Amino acid sequence: MTNQTRSYFTEEHEIFRKSVRSFVEKELYPHQQEWEKSRSVPKEIFKKLGEQGFLGITLPEKYGGSGCDYWYKVAFAEEMTHCRMNGFTMDVMVHTDMTTPVINRLGTEAQKEEVLIPAIKGEKICALGITEPGGGSDVAHLRTTARKDGDDYIINGAKTFITNGSRADYILLAVRTGPPVTAETFQSAHTGVSFIIFPTHNEKGEKTPGFSVGRKLEKMGNHSSDTAELSFQDCRIPTKYLLGEENKGFYYVMNNFQGERLIASIMACAGMKLMLEDSIKYGRERQAFGKPIITFQVWRHRLAQLFTELEAAQELTYRACDLFNRDIPCVKEISMAKLLTSELVNKVAAECVQLHGGYGYIEEYDICRVYRDVRLLTIGAGTSEIMREIIAKETGL
Ligand SMILES: Cc1cc2nc3c(=O)[nH]c(=O)nc-3n(C[C@H](O)[C@H](O)[C@H](O)COP(=O)(O)OP(=O)(O)OC[C@H]3O[C@@H](n4cnc5c(N)ncnc54)[C@H](O)[C@@H]3O)c2cc1C
Repeated sequence: MTNQTRSYFTEEHEIFRKSVRSFVEKELYPHQQEWEKSRSVPKEIFKKLGEQGFLGITLPEKYGGSGCDYWYKVAFAEEMTHCRMNGFTMDVMVHTDMTTPVINRLGTEAQKEEVLIPAIKGEKICALGITEPGGGSDVAHLRTTARKDGDDYIINGAKTFITNGSRADYILLAVRTGPPVTAETFQSAHTGVSFIIFPTHNEKGEKTPGFSVGRKLEKMGNHSSDTAELSFQDCRIPTKYLLGEENKGFYYVMNNFQGERLIASIMACAGMKLMLEDSIKYGRERQAFGKPIITFQVWRHRLAQLFTELEAAQELTYRACDLFNRDIPCVKEISMAKLLTSELVNKVAAECVQLHGGYGYIEEYDICRVYRDVRLLTIGAGTSEIMREIIAKETGL
């Protein structure tokens, strides 16, 4: 059995881990069935997470964060998987790992005051808007434009598959501020991308003119997650919302992917551990031919194989966490961890459904839902094909 208490975690991390587990068991897991069925989670849950200090674990105390090391974040992500709602945990991680850290890194004091402080409290929710109907992998050639007009940007375009999209207060939006993509600019298109913190409404709650949330996307899995299509028509946004430098957005996006891919890998490992534990429990209880199915050699060997592969994936992921925590460049290690864990979690889910027999196909069994949910992992946050491309480059191929 994979033991989460490894040398990376101190006693303090473990005390913190227990507090997350207790929150998850009390506030999240009991609502799992209801929120999955209704395909929505109340916005107030973000406030509850904020009150516990879970939304600013590694962010500076000055803005309401806890200023802790990355291992606290790892413990938080691992424990969050126990709510058994991959969709909702993804919503939370978009907020904590894909948006607020980059605002902290690149934002002005005014941006941090306006966005970071309420986001850490859970009073405001953040989304990340990169993918467009025309493409997600090819970030350099995105087409949503932000044209400067005096002290404003005029934003036009569309985004799709945006997690937290329909309830976000701020969307960290990747836009084209450079020349449009043409045959001449194709090769240099990545130098014309910027990040803008897009407020979806004003202080009175009135929607930003020209901004609209499109149809609700019916997904294969992750039903408790809010996934939306967004449209921007002549949206006027003050230039004070530009994050970092103009036209450096492509590099910011690539950098930001690291935290996103790492947290996805951490959660994939924790998810695999849960699936295997559940399956062993089921296999001990379920009898066939007069004995528990877990005692058939074929299952003992299959599970032994999966535990071995999980152990390797977990150690690679923790190694990437260690480098990330110490601010040591680790694009290769994170891409490898994302590739390995997202492929493996699909294999583990398929085997665990098989072990459950017909019950693995029945909705009330967690494994049925998890099998659907984990399908996203080789696609979201950069596909497996893109991970192999990055690893090939990083290894000099
Ligand atoms: C539920 C869900 C939530 C999401 N949340 C967000 C979010 O919050 N914010 C956000 O911005 N995006 C989000 N996404 C989008 C996600 O990141 C993209 O789906 C993903 O990046 C892939 O982009 P795409 O779907 O446009 O596929 P495409 O880029 O069209 O790729 C299609 C296929 O072509 C392959 N391919 C593309 N380029 C290459 C290449 N160079 N070499 C080899 N193969 C290649 C891909 O690997 C893939 O198999 C979400 C998606 C889903 C489904």
